[in-house]
Order: sequence, then C-alpha cells, then structure tokens
Amino acid sequence: MEEVSSLYNSKTKCPVCESSIEFTKVKSRSIRLIKQDTDFCPWYEGENPVYYEAVICPECGYGAHVTTFEKINRFEKTKIKEKITPRWKKRSFIGPRTIEKALEAFKIALMNLIASEANKSEVAKICLRIAWLHRYEGDEVQEKKFLEHALRNYKMAYQGEDLSEGKFDEYVCMFIIGELSKRLGKLDESSQWLSRLITSYSDPNKKNLISNKLIETTRDLIQEIKDMKANQSNEEASTA
Ligand SMILES: [Zn+2]
Repeated sequence: MEEVSSLYNSKTKCPVCESSIEFTKVKSRSIRLIKQDTDFCPWYEGENPVYYEAVICPECGYGAHVTTFEKINRFEKTKIKEKITPRWKKRSFIGPRTIEKALEAFKIALMNLIASEANKSEVAKICLRIAWLHRYEGDEVQEKKFLEHALRNYKMAYQGEDLSEGKFDEYVCMFIIGELSKRLGKLDESSQWLSRLITSYSDPNKKNLISNKLIETTRDLIQEIKDMKANQSNEEASTA
C-alpha cells in the first residue's frame, strides 16, 4: 500500500512582497498529541506540527509564526523590506522539515521580528518554540539559552503590552513567566509570579477571566517549587 503523506501545502499571498506562495502544514487528522509539558511544549507521535509553525516567504525572506503571518502593519513591512529582503538568498521551506530545517525557519522568523521591532510577546513566543525544538533534540544548553530569551521578553510584554485581547492574556503571561523561571532555577522569582496569579484568582472581578485548568496547574507548580526548595535545603544540610 502506498504511504499517504501526513503533510499538505497551503497557498497564501506574502503580505510584504505580494508573491503567491505555498507553505507546508500537517494534516489535522495526522496529528497525535501524546503529552504536553508544563510550559505547553507538545509532544507528538509521528509528524510534529511545531516544526511547520514558522512560515517563510521564499521570495523576500519575510517570516513569521503561522498564526500572525498575515497580521503585519505598514511600519513592519517597511522595516522588513529595508533590513531583511536586501540580504535574502531565495530558498524554499516547502516539504518535510528536519529539526535543523525547522530551527532555520524559526530563526529567520525571529530575525524578522527583531528587524520589524515587533511585540515582545511575539518574540517570546518564537524563542519558546526554538527552546522546544532544542528540547526535542536533547540540547539542554541551547534550550536554556532560548528559555532565558523567552522569559526576558515575556516579562517585557507583561510590563509594556496590552494583553487584554486574545488567548494569550496577562494571566497566561504570569503563568508562563513563573513556569520558565522555575525551569531556569529561579525558584523565589517563580513562586512570586505564581502566587500573584493565585491572588488575582481570589479577586471576584478577575476570577472569571482565569481558567480553572490554569489555576490547577499553578497550584501544582507552587507545590513542586516548595518540594524543590525543601530538597535544596536538605542537600545543603547534608553537605554542611
Ligand atoms: Zn514575500
């Protein structure tokens, strides 16, 4: 029997150079999620859709996360035409992606965000995905480096961006800051952010804005951090 591909190509128009372009996606019926880490990193059996989330225009070098590819303003377009396109060597990102190819695409998307002075939350989102790709390949050093970049940008987004619309709101932002701080060993900072989220949840005006699942996971994380701290002080006591 001939093997049916789990990939397909979708068409769109590049909002920067207006070329008709194609990009590859994983068919939704082929997506098999096995588990998800606490920082939302998904693990799949078979083809991994995360590999395909960075869409790149082969003509002009514009690249972005698939969910924001078409949402680009005039200022950002101008910056990309000035800073990305003149240095772009035309190449295609269509078809199956290895981790290396996925990383290359995400790093192009990141360069585009920096060139166009995009929102910090968008920069953080791409850095987090680059960290996940390194986690998939077991490269802890690179994973931590990009988790640090993601954490720094999420903090700037929390302070300076309007996060009142969309799925990524200020509460999910607090959670992810707490979660990434924990992963990077900043336990006190992590508990502060997570406790702040629990406090918001106890405010009747905010309670409805925060999902129960997020609060459950936050409570688990606070407990995990307490255990980690207790272990640390035990280790210190036994080596003293
Ligand atoms: Zn283009």
